[in-house]
Amino acid sequence: MANWKMHKTVEEGRAFGRHLIRRLSEAGDQPPTLVVCPTLPGLWPLAREFAGTPVGVGAQNLDLGREGALTGAVSGYLLREAGAQFVIIGHSERRQVFHETDDVIGQKVAQAYQSRLRPILCVGESAQEYRQGSTLSVVERQLQALAPYVDDKMMQTLIVAYEPVWAIGTGEVPEPGQANHVAAAIREVLDRMAPGSGENVPVLYGGSVNAKNIRPFMGEKDIDGALVGGASLQVEEFLAMARNSC
Ligand code: PEP
Repeated sequence: MANWKMHKTVEEGRAFGRHLIRRLSEAGDQPPTLVVCPTLPGLWPLAREFAGTPVGVGAQNLDLGREGALTGAVSGYLLREAGAQFVIIGHSERRQVFHETDDVIGQKVAQAYQSRLRPILCVGESAQEYRQGSTLSVVERQLQALAPYVDDKMMQTLIVAYEPVWAIGTGEVPEPGQANHVAAAIREVLDRMAPGSGENVPVLYGGSVNAKNIRPFMGEKDIDGALVGGASLQVEEFLAMARNSC
């Protein structure tokens, strides 16, 4: 899954979409599930480029509520209408820069379901929490924040991205086995919250992943895919990652 953050103009996004579709049809083989999360203005134009193709489109955030006097806000319903099928919720940049709390993130996950969007919930520890050895308690707290808002049935179709904050955009990555250990712990927490979800929910790894280092992560038992920032901005790198994931 590609998270473009605040990168690419609308036209650059469309050109990426056309290029990606051309390259996928040339290759002819079945790629793994690919989803691109562009900027908000780029969502509708990119969704049109990908219409009728296997590539999905997601938003990077949603605001609570359906409609109302909320200047600058964009609801899940509007994102859905603009072509989004997925939405990233609780990215560490939303938590840190925009001060989103665990509780707000829990509400946003519920709002995503109400808007018929599939949420990709990001969890992960900061560098300090990592040094303190509190990774597992942090991700458990971040997952448990959903409990008041999200029912068992919704939990079965969640997607979780384990993204250690210290690995995002830094070039540092955990050992794949260490990331897998956290992914397995995430499945255990999910299963306690909603029986069966530990197996049903795809768990992605995210943080400085690229075409060169992706393979051992994807070889781990409890990691199903990747959430990719910087390395998703170039079509060929993105495709190489998809190829190296299989
Ligand atoms: C991200 O922001 O979700 C991310 C994984 O970024 P990067 O791949 O650039 O570390």
